[in-house]
Amino acid sequence: MARPRIGISACLAGEPVRYDGTDRRQPVLLDWLRGFAELSSACPEVGIGLGVPRPTIGLVRVDGRTRVRGVADPSRDLTAALDDFARAQLPWLHTLDGYVFKARSPSCGVRAVPRRLEDGGEDREGQGHFAAFVQARFPGLPLADEEQLRDEAQRAAFEAAAWAYWRHRARGGADADNR
Ligand code: SF4
Repeated sequence: MARPRIGISACLAGEPVRYDGTDRRQPVLLDWLRGFAELSSACPEVGIGLGVPRPTIGLVRVDGRTRVRGVADPSRDLTAALDDFARAQLPWLHTLDGYVFKARSPSCGVRAVPRRLEDGGEDREGQGHFAAFVQARFPGLPLADEEQLRDEAQRAAFEAAAWAYWRHRARGGADADNR
């Protein structure tokens, strides 16, 4: 049966791709998603060639822009590599009807990602670099993180939005919107 196709951060799907070699498998979330959708996973950090395990990276404000840099070695700037990875995913992203991202990741977080500021402080106003690309390029695509989807009402809203996007895409509307 044709049904929505949902992108998901690979660590949430159970792949041991995190910086420390672990995963963040979410059995309840996965069972629910698989009840109405096909899942397709990606890990941006592995996708740009970072190993597992790997040194941690984070968001940093520099000259009014947010960069992705090594935490222990801030001279290591991965922003351009993540941009290249994101652009290379466009054909795959065009096949999706929603995306579930790992919360608070500098690559995957959709909201409230910690960010180091130029004055030495920190806020929680950042967005993961890959998630920000997906949201900017596909403004109508339903996005959420696993923490939002613990709430029953938010799960119902996400599922309804994914089905609506799927119907819109089946009519060719989403591709036209996102050209
Ligand atoms: S949060 Fe994103 S970048 Fe980090 S391990 Fe999970 S899939 Fe990879």
